[in-house]
Amino acid sequence: MNFPYKVSFWATEGVKPTDPLGSRNINVDVLVIGAGFAGISSAYYLKKAAPDLNITVVEAEYVGFGPSGRNFGGVTTGMRELRTSFITGFDLEEERFAARYFLNSRAEFEQRIADGRIECEYREEPILMHALDAEAWQALQRESDVLHDRGTPNMLLSGEEVRRALPVPYEIHGGMVLTAWRSVQPFKLVRGFGEQLRSIGVPIHEATKVAEINDDGARVTVATTDRATISATKVVLATNAYTYHMKPFNELLFPRQSYVVATVPLEDATFKSLGLKEYTYIEDVGMTFYYARAYRKRLLFGGGLPTRGLFSPSTVDKAADTDAVEYNRVYEEMQRRFPLLEGVSLEAAWSGPIDITENFAPIIRPMAGMPNVIANIGFNGEGLFAGSLSGKMVVGQVLGSSYIDPDAERVRRYLNSN
Ligand SMILES: Cc1cc2nc3c(=O)[nH]c(=O)nc-3n(C[C@H](O)[C@H](O)[C@H](O)COP(=O)(O)OP(=O)(O)OC[C@H]3O[C@@H](n4cnc5c(N)ncnc54)[C@H](O)[C@@H]3O)c2cc1C
Repeated sequence: MNFPYKVSFWATEGVKPTDPLGSRNINVDVLVIGAGFAGISSAYYLKKAAPDLNITVVEAEYVGFGPSGRNFGGVTTGMRELRTSFITGFDLEEERFAARYFLNSRAEFEQRIADGRIECEYREEPILMHALDAEAWQALQRESDVLHDRGTPNMLLSGEEVRRALPVPYEIHGGMVLTAWRSVQPFKLVRGFGEQLRSIGVPIHEATKVAEINDDGARVTVATTDRATISATKVVLATNAYTYHMKPFNELLFPRQSYVVATVPLEDATFKSLGLKEYTYIEDVGMTFYYARAYRKRLLFGGGLPTRGLFSPSTVDKAADTDAVEYNRVYEEMQRRFPLLEGVSLEAAWSGPIDITENFAPIIRPMAGMPNVIANIGFNGEGLFAGSLSGKMVVGQVLGSSYIDPDAERVRRYLNSN
């Protein structure tokens, strides 16, 4: 099959990078590398905390080129919601605090969208995680208990209840609804956040790729592939799984590519036959899940266990983005679950790298041996909401203890401690 590859289903065609740095040399207080949710929020909260600070963002391609513009648009209520059952070193009190912190920050996230008048199709859309066999159903029930204990809103549904709400043509043993989730059109959101950042006086140099970073302990010198030199007091590294290309940082993350296909808009009867009625965003239980979302009469379907196995090394490049073997796997699984889609035409096929860390939590701290380079990476496939707030944790790391937000700092410490 010839897959209609796109960088992202959500992106408008022909995005042109603006304001490249070229070969100019500049001096800044803070340089942020990467213009996804994490990089933009780092620059945003730094500028809010210290309006006189000279902050610049550089982005290798354009705002939202990475997974921030390619994801499924699920707005979680916090961190590690899909992976609770894999977490070790679980401190219930700190988990509760973190869950409350993120839930309470939802209003702030929504206010930013409202302030920026960002049209991003933000709406209430709970996710239904469903169990396809008895073992997965047991795991889901355990997971629901853990999530309840830490204060993440959820609701269990029996197999019968799921079948009524979600009459899909395959067997389901039970489900858990993460009731407080929202959804967005992710590309529109990240582009909107980018515009908002520019509007408060932070330039974003697109088509500006960092090649090398050196921290001599006093100042950081950054070289770009166009031979510009940027001298900065502090650098925030918000390069997600692309960090894999940056020695010596590449061993912090395990990149895991996720593949998605989107059908063309379907005939009414075919669309109805999918059964995505009450729940339009669904996902399997476990580490190797498939996920699906109905969007404007299309089915978006992705994820799953890579053909080469879960822990096989994944490259983070164009070859990985256009790996036909993986798209075939996803396409076949979509048709197996929804037989009426056999031979369906596709509108888009796209993928993105996910930055998995050892404890499924982000790394927000100075890099080893580089005290002035602060990492803001490792969102483990749940970085839309948490990445958008991560800047609040970065501020104290960059500007020092008098700028620390105590609640954000407590969560950061916990996430970086185990
Ligand atoms: C298919 C898929 C579905 C997903 N679904 C969801 C979901 O429903 N909900 C959710 O919360 N999360 C989801 N995620 C994860 C989410 O998209 C990420 O966690 C989040 O976007 C990470 O944001 P970021 O800013 O860290 O990274 P990115 O968006 O990757 O931004 C990093 C940026 O750094 C730039 N960069 C890299 N190297 C350099 C360099 N050397 N110089 C300059 N710039 C550089 C890149 O071009 C990129 O734009 C999904 C991910 C994928 C792939």
